[in-house]
Amino acid sequence: MLQKCLMYPALQKFYNALTIVNQIDSRKYIFETIPQIDSFFSEMRNITFVMQESFNSSELKKVYEQEREKFLNNEVMKWFNQTRVETIHKHPFKLEKALYVEFYLPNFSTKTTLDKLTINNDLNFSDLYKKLKLFLDTNYSNCIELYLSTTITFLENGNEVDIYSVIQKGIEIMYAMVVDIMRLYPCNCEKCNKLKNEIKRLIDAVSVKKITFSSDLYYADKKLSIGSVICASLGSGCSLLSPPAPIKNSFLDITDMMPCDMSFLKVFAYYHIVLARIQRSESSESELMPAFLIIYENDTLSFYGPITGTNKSTFYRAISDVTKIINNNNIKAILILTEGYHYANKDIEQLQSMKYEERIKEASSVVILFTLISKNLDDIYGIEVDYENLFDGNYIDKQMKNIIKYEPYNHMAYPIFKALHK
Ligand SMILES: [Zn+2]
Repeated sequence: MLQKCLMYPALQKFYNALTIVNQIDSRKYIFETIPQIDSFFSEMRNITFVMQESFNSSELKKVYEQEREKFLNNEVMKWFNQTRVETIHKHPFKLEKALYVEFYLPNFSTKTTLDKLTINNDLNFSDLYKKLKLFLDTNYSNCIELYLSTTITFLENGNEVDIYSVIQKGIEIMYAMVVDIMRLYPCNCEKCNKLKNEIKRLIDAVSVKKITFSSDLYYADKKLSIGSVICASLGSGCSLLSPPAPIKNSFLDITDMMPCDMSFLKVFAYYHIVLARIQRSESSESELMPAFLIIYENDTLSFYGPITGTNKSTFYRAISDVTKIINNNNIKAILILTEGYHYANKDIEQLQSMKYEERIKEASSVVILFTLISKNLDDIYGIEVDYENLFDGNYIDKQMKNIIKYEPYNHMAYPIFKALHK
């Protein structure tokens, strides 16, 4: 017998779950997305709950058992299910969340430390914020300023869970099961069809999304301010990291030029000077967004960036992300494009005692910085171009020859240097 709207309650729960996960917005602060994750898991659990209720005759029960065996008997769904069982016995839904705080210390230095604050499930945004501020007031109130990023990580028995990929896999499997059951018990009524279409649309939207739960913060004068939030995940679908392409026939491939690190630095600089000139001829306020060029051992390259954000922590976090990319790939060199402030005839120590906002008032000019960090070189090298002289050909030629050598340890890119020289 054909059961009318047998799957309607399950479709509705699935639709709710998808709506919630689709509303998760990585541009929002992490703390706001946590309750959404909780609700998502709760609605996903409800799909099987309502199915158990609807499939109540002995024939339907048998079908439900078969479908459950076919689709839910795998690691991902066991994880969902186990969480569900825990929920039944222990009440409330429990998945531990850890707040990782990454500090970029201090002014010109580059040391990165990682602190972990384990937080209770039920802390809301303002409590979390207070807790973090108290932690900073206690440990870091003597710092002139502090750049930091926070990332929420989900833990289960102390192990990290890549929550978004689990979510995506769970949705995929649940959808396959729903489609399979609807093949056995189809319903073409208007309300079921409408939900089916909406579910399809939401799945498409969710599958292209990448989310990490990170924020960039700035701490000074016992005040904690939250900057913009960027960052896609570093996974294969990461939108900031372009897929590797051969150096051959790329902008780095110049006839009559030795394909060596220093040539790459020069070509990289020329290329962006041309871009900067085009931008400056259109607007005097234009700026170049920081970007990283990754050169792999197998003579391919990827761009990482541009890094947009209102907060310097975002750039430091990008450096930290690039070190992670280095650790997971065979990379021989990194080129960085940034803008910086030039301080002519200034006392470095005095500058270091100032907060960023005060310090930049002392700057004599804004420069474009091109930086090379190579596995084969024991120092960091760079080319500096002052915006004032951007259109002066003789000046540019001079700067191209005048390659600057930096002590790695005092350089902002030190974490990258360290990762390449491991
Ligand atoms: Zn129906």
